[in-house]
Amino acid sequence: MNAPAQFRPVPLAIVGGGAAGMFAAVVAAGRGLGCLVVERKARLGAKVLMTANGRCNFTKDLPAERMLDDLGEPVASFVRPALTACPPARILGGFHALGVRTKRMADGRLFPASEKAADIVHAFGDRLRDREVPLLFNTPVTGIAATPKGFLLSTKSFTLSARKVLVATGGLSFPKTGSVGDGQNFARDLGHRIEPCRAGLVGFEAHVPRVARFEEAAARVRVDGAVVCDYRGEVEFERWGVTGAAVYNCQRWVARHLTKGERFTLELQQGHERLNLESPTARPLKEAIVTIGGVARADVDPETMMSRKVPGLYFAGEVLDIDGPTGGYNLSIAFATARLAVASILKTL
Ligand SMILES: Cc1cc2nc3c(=O)[nH]c(=O)nc-3n(C[C@H](O)[C@H](O)[C@H](O)COP(=O)(O)OP(=O)(O)OC[C@H]3O[C@@H](n4cnc5c(N)ncnc54)[C@H](O)[C@@H]3O)c2cc1C
Repeated sequence: MNAPAQFRPVPLAIVGGGAAGMFAAVVAAGRGLGCLVVERKARLGAKVLMTANGRCNFTKDLPAERMLDDLGEPVASFVRPALTACPPARILGGFHALGVRTKRMADGRLFPASEKAADIVHAFGDRLRDREVPLLFNTPVTGIAATPKGFLLSTKSFTLSARKVLVATGGLSFPKTGSVGDGQNFARDLGHRIEPCRAGLVGFEAHVPRVARFEEAAARVRVDGAVVCDYRGEVEFERWGVTGAAVYNCQRWVARHLTKGERFTLELQQGHERLNLESPTARPLKEAIVTIGGVARADVDPETMMSRKVPGLYFAGEVLDIDGPTGGYNLSIAFATARLAVASILKTL
């Protein structure tokens, strides 16, 4: 009788088949690194399908330096190595290599030419099928344990052995897409600090005089009278408050920087029309475009995306305490951190 077959751990297990997980798997497969993707939901990229109202603004045509300026601190310093190695031009080239035709808006935002996010998700899925990358759907990972030889990933019905693990489980907004905060819990259990998770890029609740729309407004945040952030763009007045890209970006600034509940004024202006809102409340995290907070940047090496606490464990995307303004920045940093994680893993094998 033959000796029992040796169980071989998978070289890389990617937890989460969203933006970062799909990108990581395509890069890994392209470099011949054996990997599999474990995904909670029944399909890849549920959140990506929602992006830009189903159109997917996947990056912005900017040099890395400009994108870093727009991201601002403290995010920019952390994502600098990832974004420098994988700037928007490289992300665009990656999509072209996947066969996605793209279009550029006047402001530099990049979309699939079809303006269908599904084309992006299908392109990833097709490439992973062609490269025979195993995709485990309907499989929430329930725990990650470090072992002397790597990791054990628990699921409801089986345990998986992996040499390296990339956690790409996303933030906590729109939980129906599958991002429910599991990665942050795994990281906490493994000794990482988790920065409080809060809504980013969401509207403010406020009593507004009427339902209306400013096409090209100025939205500013003032603290003690001084302007601390200033955006131009669309502002919409809803029955419950204010929304639109310029408002979202101001809200992100407030959530990131006024962490002790400091008072501020949101100033909205179009021509001679001006509205000042005093410390309006942000809408809930579950409605937000992005999660601010997550795995502490200090606990992850920005040069490799590897945990400083658990060797062999990597993070990418929104599970980390990184976020950007509207306009393709959040997908860009998910892709760039994913690519850096895989490139770093390849160097260790
Ligand atoms: C309405 C909306 C519009 C947006 N529009 C844009 C846009 O136009 N441009 C832009 O740049 N960004 C946009 N974003 C933000 C962008 O979608 C996210 O920042 C990005 O998807 C984050 O990628 P990620 O891979 O980190 O997380 P996700 O894409 O959320 O993927 C995480 C994946 O992990 C899976 N998962 C979670 N837990 C487990 C587990 N325990 N086991 C297995 N799998 C698990 C989830 O099911 C999910 O598929 C938008 C977001 C929203 C909500």
